[in-house]
This record gives sequence, C-alpha cells and structure tokens, in this order.
Amino acid sequence: MKLDASAQYVLDRLRGAGYPAWAVGGCVRDCLLGAEPADWDVCTAALPEQTAALFERVALTGEKHGTVTALLDRPIEITTLRTEGAYLDRRRPSGVSFTDDIRADLARRDFTINAMAWSPEDGLVDPFGGRDDLAAGVLRCVGEPAARFSEDALRILRALRFISRLGLTVEPETDRAMRECAHYLGEISVERVYSELLGILRGGHVCAALLGFPDVVSAAVPELAPMVGFEQHSRHHIYDVWEHTVRTVAAAPETETTVRLALLLHDMGKPAMFYMDETGHGRFRGHGAAGSEMAEACLRRLKTDRETREAVTLLVKIHDEPLPDTEAGMRRMLAKLGEKTLRMLIEVKRADAVARAPDSAESRLGWLSEGEALFERVLEKKPCLTVAELETGGAELMELGVPRGPEIGRLLEALLGEVIDGKLENSREALLRRARELI
Ligand code: ATP
Ligand code: MG
Repeated sequence: MKLDASAQYVLDRLRGAGYPAWAVGGCVRDCLLGAEPADWDVCTAALPEQTAALFERVALTGEKHGTVTALLDRPIEITTLRTEGAYLDRRRPSGVSFTDDIRADLARRDFTINAMAWSPEDGLVDPFGGRDDLAAGVLRCVGEPAARFSEDALRILRALRFISRLGLTVEPETDRAMRECAHYLGEISVERVYSELLGILRGGHVCAALLGFPDVVSAAVPELAPMVGFEQHSRHHIYDVWEHTVRTVAAAPETETTVRLALLLHDMGKPAMFYMDETGHGRFRGHGAAGSEMAEACLRRLKTDRETREAVTLLVKIHDEPLPDTEAGMRRMLAKLGEKTLRMLIEVKRADAVARAPDSAESRLGWLSEGEALFERVLEKKPCLTVAELETGGAELMELGVPRGPEIGRLLEALLGEVIDGKLENSREALLRRARELI
C-alpha cells in the first residue's frame, strides 16, 4: 500500500497524538487495484474538534457528521468513526454516534470493496471480504442488500457506477435488491442522480451497467424508459433503441462526458416520432428536433449546467444531419457551431455509425471519414469565420460613408457571409471594393 504524502502525514499526526487512524474506503480499494485514487479519506477515533486542533488549516466540511478536511498539499477528509441510526427518510440517518470501533464504521459503508481500511500498524482491516470480492470482480453489499438500498437508494446508482468503472459482476442477492429497490430512486435529489449518472457514463464498462440494469436506469431518469425495448423495424439497425443508444455511448471516448451524455439522449425522440412507411420500414423523421426538446426538458429537470445542456441539446438536434461535402459548406458549419462543437458532433456521428447494422455502419463510417478529412483540411487553412477576422472593420466602412449604427454590422455580416461562401477574398482591397458595391 503506497500512501499519498498528505494522507501519510495525516495518519502520522493523528497516531502521534494518540488517536488510531486509517486510510479508508475508495482509496484502499483503488490502491489494491493498482490504480491512482481520486481522493484520500482518513477515518479516526479522534472527535472532530480533536482532529481540527491537530492541523494548521482545516475546513469544517461536515462537523456535525464528524468530517474535518485538512488542507494540505491535497485536501484530506478526516471522518470520526461512527455508526448510523435508522434511515427514516431514505436519505439521511436519523442520527450518528461516534465510536472507536473501526469494524462498526466499516459496517455502515455500502459495498465490501469500499469497506476496507488500512494503517501501517494494522495493515488491511477487511471484515467483510472486500479484498477477495475485489480480486474476483464481485460487487456485494455490506449487510442485507434490500435493507441497505432502502436506507439510501443512491447506493443503487453507486453500484452502477462501480460496475461501469470496474467491470464488476453483481452478487445475486445484491443484484436482486438493486432491481427491487429501484423505485426508491424517485426520492433521491436530482443533483445526486445527475452526478452518479455522469460517473456511470464515464466508465469503460458502461454497456454492462446500462444494458444490465435498464429498469434501474429508467427509475433514476424516467425520460429514458420509452427507449428500452423499442424495436426500430429498420434494416439499418439490429438493436432496439436502448441497446443502440448504449452501444453508441460505449463507442465514444471515456473522457468525453458531454459527447457521451449527448449519445445517451440522441435518439430519445425516436419512440414518439416512429411510424412505419408503406414498405413496412420503420421511420423516425424529425426525431432529432423532437429529441432535442425532450433532452432540454430532461437536462433542465436534472439541473445540468447551462453550457453542457446547450451543447447536448444542439448535438441531439443535428446528430442525423450529414456533414457538408464542400469546403464552403464546411466553413459555414464551422462558423455556425464553432470548432469544439463540430468536433463533438463528429464524435457523436462516429459512435452513432458504429452501433448499427454492419452494412449501414460501413457506409456511414466511409462518409464520415471523408467529412472529417474535409473538416481538418478546412481548419488547416485557418479560414476567416468571424467579423473580427475580416481584413476591414467598422471604421473603414464609415470612411466610405456608411453611417454609424446597425448598418455597419449588417454590412460586415454580409461581407463575412461572402467570404465564408468563398465568393469574396478576405483582403482589404477586395472587401472595400465589394462594400462600395453593396452600399
Ligand atoms: P470514488 O473513487 O468515486 O471517490 P469512493 O468509493 O471513494 O469512490 P466516495 O463517495 O468518495 O466514494 O465515498 C467514500 C467512501 O464512503 C466509500 O468508499 C464508501 O465506503 C463510503 N460511502 C460513500 N457513499 C456512501 C453511501 N451512500 N452509503 C454508504 N457508504 C458510502
Ligand atoms: Mg472517494
């Protein structure tokens, strides 16, 4: 076990003052996996005020629940060992009591793989077999699964997140309870649901999490439910809308969370827009625009930040529009969307192409790579895409006699449009010559 320097300092300081202390939870799990922990948590028998007194800079993050954050090179959360009272509202325990028993503290934690502690003196403290479960790739509740999920239903989404991240299989009792208790997810705050949803989407095993537990996902985000099992009746598709959707998510890079979120929602308009044409072929005309409105409503409900919401709803809206096949068309699209969004659109289209019937995938990927090559070619030429990049400006247009005011802006936009279209060179002489014609 290789401790982070700040975590080591915290353990030494607490132990030096006579208080037992351990690294605990996710950091122990990640170390055993040979992975770099995202954060380090320490638990100790010291009371919050005793802990706070030992460090120069602290933040009292959750003092009444016994958490003090030591502000060192990296912040370390230090929590007083505790047991929890009954959960009355399925969110929070009715009370917490401090204890000096590490095993009692580990017993309140969600999964065996998260219920391990470590200290230099004691080595690994693992009363529930977390190390074996981790080695076997098994996700198992500490204690009775249905009771643990009905105490705090968020644990069900945490389970999906650990499945998605670590590729675990779920122990049968835990699996059954996740499904049985999924209806409690309606009581969880949207902020917590959304944050876990993003965690689930970021995993390398997202297919196992989302395809394995469609009813759990639907309980957490009911807007997704109509996609599950919705047959497409299309020769372009071999999967129902949900399986296609999940496969697109998995086909996008793990680090591209916004793209993955857009993919999760890209076809949500399909069930509502479905109709069968005279040949018995499923059609979904307008599903991008319809889906975009549904995505907007869903993301507003989940309190998604505005930047993400706007990017996702735009991507959903245009995900099915072909990329331009001329340089002028590509410049127009670049000017409209910006480079960042257009790159995301290409990722969305690539993932959407991969998760289709093989013939359809092949032809789409062909078009896409042509479109992408064109995009890179156009970018390389550093085209003029904004009024600010024009080789003339308002002052020069006024010298030509254009009055100060909105007319200037309109004229510059008109010149820009012609430059983007490739009809006008972006040089001072050409722009001013054309401006004289236009005024
Ligand atoms: P991550 O690597 O994403 O941080 P983590 O397991 O460390 O995963 P945290 O949310 O940082 O998750 O929580 C730290 C520890 O607290 C967990 O490992 C677990 O032992 C415990 N824990 C967190 N949330 C819950 C919960 N809802 N119910 C029970 N125990 C929990
Ligand atoms: Mg953690």
